[in-house]
Amino acid sequence: MNPHLELDKRIVAEIYTSTEPMENLEVLCDIYGSRFPGTEEDRGAVKWMVEKLEEYGLENVHAESFKFPGWIRGPARLEILKPMEREIECISLPLGVAGEVEGKLIYLGDGHPDVYEKRRSEIEGNIAMVTSRNPLGMKRYLHRTEKYMRCILAGARGWIFMNHYPAYGPPTGSISPIIPAVGVSYEDGCFLRRLLKREGEVVVRIETTDKNMEMETYNVVADVPGGEADDEYLIVGCHYDGHDIAQGAIDPASGTVAAMEIARVLNLLGERLKRRVRLILFGAEELGLFGSYEYVERHVDELDKLRFMLNLDAAGREGKKGVFLHGHPELEPLLERAAREMGVELPYMQRVTPYSDHWPFFLKGVPCGSGGDPEAMRTGRGYGHTRYDTVDKVKLSDLREAASTYARLLLRMANIDEWPGRRLRWEEVEGFIREQGYYQTIALVERVKEYVKSWKEIHPDTKAWLEREAPYKAFL
Ligand SMILES: [Zn+2]
Repeated sequence: MNPHLELDKRIVAEIYTSTEPMENLEVLCDIYGSRFPGTEEDRGAVKWMVEKLEEYGLENVHAESFKFPGWIRGPARLEILKPMEREIECISLPLGVAGEVEGKLIYLGDGHPDVYEKRRSEIEGNIAMVTSRNPLGMKRYLHRTEKYMRCILAGARGWIFMNHYPAYGPPTGSISPIIPAVGVSYEDGCFLRRLLKREGEVVVRIETTDKNMEMETYNVVADVPGGEADDEYLIVGCHYDGHDIAQGAIDPASGTVAAMEIARVLNLLGERLKRRVRLILFGAEELGLFGSYEYVERHVDELDKLRFMLNLDAAGREGKKGVFLHGHPELEPLLERAAREMGVELPYMQRVTPYSDHWPFFLKGVPCGSGGDPEAMRTGRGYGHTRYDTVDKVKLSDLREAASTYARLLLRMANIDEWPGRRLRWEEVEGFIREQGYYQTIALVERVKEYVKSWKEIHPDTKAWLEREAPYKAFL
């Protein structure tokens, strides 16, 4: 028995007879490029998204501007000084600091949390290199920023982030403005490792020339109006910004256009939706979730009426279209029933990471989840965060599957009257963070701040970072 059969048919028929999300993806990525926060492309994309959502007939379409710590890439150099002289291709990492540093190259492999204390005497005053791979045996995701912070605490003065995937060039990804840091390709990283092995000692020099400054960007908001119970609402969201070196087609735009498609199609159902579904396309996610923190802070009074937040970051990638629930077992029966009714697989698991726009909502205890494939636990990005994350990697069939699955799930969440989800108290949120292994990760930022304050010389960008309160702190 499927009580939503008629609406399911309309949703699926509309999505599978339209190429809208692929057309939108091409516009976002080919015309507006990376949509890197604070750039002309960013503003162009926002204007275009607002117009598109108005064209769909959505309500309350607008952009909410906010200030965030922006960054402009400058040329970066990585040179081997000893035992030979050679330049290695590299790129600096977003929000990194401009500077010059010289030191011995210390290779720390995949950067398991145990390695930094053990090798502190080598790391101190030198340049540490770690790969982008998740260390073997780790149950949680060890993010780039955590490896960077742990190297700094062990005394590193420069940092090299080595791609562990061949043929994808140097990886990018934001860090904090503390020590000069660059990304290098797998091949160049392997070359440096061979050199180290053969020679025992390799001296390198990093020079970065980036600029940090306050900039402005936007969250784009649009509503699918509800019917009889319109005071309650749901959010479907995804960031729209990519990294400056890439089109950001899979991450995030495959999710951005899937979320836009969901709003377009749910809106065609007219008053058949009982509760409001709000689409939010977040800005400045890649630099530190600035858009979603901003949204939650600005709309904190409305969170009690928010049933569920579904984050679709990169959700149009290949794989099963399931759900990572962020600490809400009371929602599992709903997902199982929805899967049965829809006749689709909807694998789920309870898991959270602090690395996308669900996080500020999660910290506030709002029931939330992220689209993705729990059966293909990803611990690496592949071509993500490289210049090869391009439109040609995205398949229309994946966009359709994501849009039709999550649109039907949201329909159910909006229309059932007995809502099983409940807002978590802070102790419960904290408990789940501990259980997931991210408590130390969060504490790490404060430890690094304390440590850096003791330095004799502090770069002005680092000072500004020290003075800026970490956005999550307002939530604790
Ligand atoms: Zn993303």
